[in-house]
Order: sequence, then structure tokens, then C-alpha cells
Amino acid sequence: MTFAELGLHAAVLKALADAGYNEPTPVQAQAIPAALAGRDLMVSSQTGSGKTAAFLLPALHRFASQTPTAAAPSTPNFGRHAPRGRSDRQRFSPAQPKMLVLAPTRELALQVTAAADKYGATLRHVRAVAILGGMPYPKQMQLLAQNPAILVATPGRLIDHMESGKIDFSCLETLVLDEADRMLDMGFIDDIERIVAATPATRQTMLFSATLDGVVGDMARRITRDAQLVQATAVAARHDNIEQRLHFVDDLAHKNRLLDHLLRDTSIDQAIVFTATKRDADTIADRLNVAGFAAAALHGDMQQGARNRTLNALRRGQLRVLVATDVAARGIDVPTITHVFNYDLPKFAEDYIHRIGRTGRAGRNGLAVSLVNHGERFNVRKIERLTQQEIPVNVIPGFEPVRRSSPPSRAPGSKPGGWKGGRGNGEARSGYGKPGHSAEGRTGWGGARDAQNRAAPRDTAGRRSFGDR
Ligand code: AMP
Repeated sequence: MTFAELGLHAAVLKALADAGYNEPTPVQAQAIPAALAGRDLMVSSQTGSGKTAAFLLPALHRFASQTPTAAAPSTPNFGRHAPRGRSDRQRFSPAQPKMLVLAPTRELALQVTAAADKYGATLRHVRAVAILGGMPYPKQMQLLAQNPAILVATPGRLIDHMESGKIDFSCLETLVLDEADRMLDMGFIDDIERIVAATPATRQTMLFSATLDGVVGDMARRITRDAQLVQATAVAARHDNIEQRLHFVDDLAHKNRLLDHLLRDTSIDQAIVFTATKRDADTIADRLNVAGFAAAALHGDMQQGARNRTLNALRRGQLRVLVATDVAARGIDVPTITHVFNYDLPKFAEDYIHRIGRTGRAGRNGLAVSLVNHGERFNVRKIERLTQQEIPVNVIPGFEPVRRSSPPSRAPGSKPGGWKGGRGNGEARSGYGKPGHSAEGRTGWGGARDAQNRAAPRDTAGRRSFGDR
């Protein structure tokens, strides 16, 4: 299957060839024809699957077909139409986007905007801008004054602009909810409902989410009409080009020693270390800097400018280690990230897939290493069940856990079958102790967290939280 066979416009095909894309990914092959036919979509897919192009390409195709590519940049609804300058402020006409993409985080929104620029590079009249929380309002007013065809936004800030009359959705043709499950997890449901209500009923709606279960599935069905269901999760969730490993740790000191050792691996080009809390991200980044690593933190408490500077430093190779929380790291697409370390396991099993997908980009291989307390074996099992892959346990001589940890028990016949331990990649495998060995331990987390797990409420997608930290 080629992009040309999907029926995309020649201008879009040229941009794809320039981007070096030879063939559609599975989610693109399924979603694009349905979207071109005008169908609504409910797509279950992960980041890294090529989902961004799956929703951008059909829209760009339509823009290319509507207006000649050589059109002047001042084409109504595409070019700048609002007068600039103080005295003209009263005459500001609202932006009338044709496509709106809602994204949960600033990073993802910027990533989508960059992708729209790349895939739409041959369509000079099509502008994509990002409207984000944390960005100065005057700058956003300037962007809106360009009357972009594509608006990419985080829900909260978009509502602010809608309320002040800066945006008019009467010309909107396509609405995309990217990582809808995450937006609901972040509490954006009311904002999303308001935004959807402000768009024309004639719109085409495409919803992308890691899961279509629970509340997110209900919302998807409510806001789409006769949607084509596309499911690409199972394939994408496997990340077959990413080797996974697990190290059991006894306590924080053990974990920190092991992380320092692992980060000295010379095969690391760049690495992301994931932490559960913003404070840990800061603390660990500081500690790694003192230890001589070029490290920086990335989390949601940082100003947008600081986040952008950190990401640019990562892209330019000035940083070797990024220490990040889940939300901040979503959407990071830097091909030179060779390693991902889970200093803490993620709160939701789905986030593990997002995290490890930060490595192994653009067809390369990657290594994802999780540092796991003995009391977190249950959470490891959940991840393994989701990915249908077991995570081999590794032990590095000199860093053996003092406690012997029993393998995560599995129901007979459950997948993946049987716990087999390490891969024998030059490192000794841990010998496991007695089955049923107590999970409570000296980690300071295990017991309390296990109790949390049992009582953990389900989130918006019906997923059970591993417990807040
Ligand atoms: P996404 O899932 O949209 O974040 O895309 C993941 C990565 O795959 C990005 O680096 C894209 O540039 C890349 N990509 C998307 N579609 C294709 C394709 N058809 N061929 C090669 N790379 C692609």
C-alpha cells in the first residue's frame, strides 16, 4: 500500500516524499481512506503509531483540493486578515479555523503543529498555529490574527479565547481529539464538551485515544456520527524494536546507585528518566548534574519558555539525560533517545507504552529499563498483560537486590505465559525465592502502595490507577 493508493493529493504526496515516508503505517492505512470519504473516526492507537499523520493528511488533502497550492497567502480564511497595531484592535475579526485539534499537553500540541507544517509544507496558504496554556496572550493574539486554517490547542486556553470572542468555529470542517483519554484524565471533560458544542454539527470528528473503554468511549460515541472504528493498539503496544528490562531494587539508595551505574553505559546517546513526581524530577536532575551528567528536568510546573528551552537542548544534543514526568514527556519525538529509564513505574499501565515509545523512534532500536520495588510486582503484571510481552528481569553484579523477590504470579494460561526471568545478555539473572514471598518491604512505598492499589479508584477510561504518589 502506498500513500498515492490512498488517494491523497499530489501536493501532500510531495511533502510525504520529502519527509522520507515510503508507505503508510497501519493506522494511517486504515484511517485515511475513511477520513477522505468524510467518515467520523474513533481510533484506538498509541503515540508512535503515526496517528498524527492519520488525521492531518486527510485534512491537508482537502485544503489542497479546495485552494490551488499557488494561492496567495492572503486567501480569505487562510492568510492574515486582521489588521495589526493598537488602533486596529477593535476591528479584530475572530479567527475562523477549518480544522481544530485538541491535545492534552503543550508538548503534544507543539508536536502536532510541527507535523502540520511538515506535511503541509507544499501548501503555502495553509497555516497551523498552537494556542497553549502558559504562552503569553499578546503572542497568541498575533497567531490568531493570522487566521490559521489549522488550530491546535489545549482545551483550557482555547476556552479563554472562545469566551473573549477571538475564535469563531462557524467554518470548522474537522475536529480532532488527540489522546482523548489523557485529556479526560486531566479533567478536561467539561471544556471539551463546551468546545464541541461550539462547533458546527456538520463537522467531521476524529477521536484518537489509547483506549476506547469507559468514559472516553462513551464520549467518543456521543460526539461522533456513524464513526468508523480503527483499532491499531495491539500492534503499536508491542514496541518490538524496544528491548525491555527490569531491575528489582531494595530501597531508594539502591535505586539511585543503580540508576547512576546504568546511565554510565557508553551505548547511551540520550536518555529519558521518568519519575512519578515533579519534585523527584528536579531532585534527580540536580543530582545527576552534580554527578557529571548533562541533565535537566521537564515537568508541568515549569514555564513554557523553560520547557521549550529544555526540549530544544535535548533536540540539539546538548542534554544527555532528561528527567521527566509523564505529562511533560508526552509527544517527545527525538530519534537520538536510545534509552528510557523508569525510575518509578507509571501510574497507569498505558503510560508505560507511551514512555518506552520515546525511544526506538524512526525505526531505530531502543532499550527501556524499569527500576522496580519488590512491592510493585503487581503493577509489572498489569503492564505485561497490556503489552502481551513479559519484561525480563536483569541483575547486574554488584547491584543485586538483597531481598529475593518472587516472580509476578500469573494465572495458568494467562498471557504472556510464564515468567522466565532475564535474557542472559551478559548479566546474571536473579535467582528467585519462594513463591508468595511477602511484597511488603523496606522500600518505604511497597506496603502503602499495595494498599492503595486495592482501593484505587478507576479513572475516566475505567483503568485502575496504581495509586498516586
Ligand atoms: P506519531 O505516532 O504521529 O507521533 O508518529 C510517530 C513517528 O512516526 C513520528 O516521528 C513521525 O514523523 C513518524 N511517521 C509517521 N508516519 C510515518 C510513515 N508513514 N513512515 C515513516 N515514519 C512515519
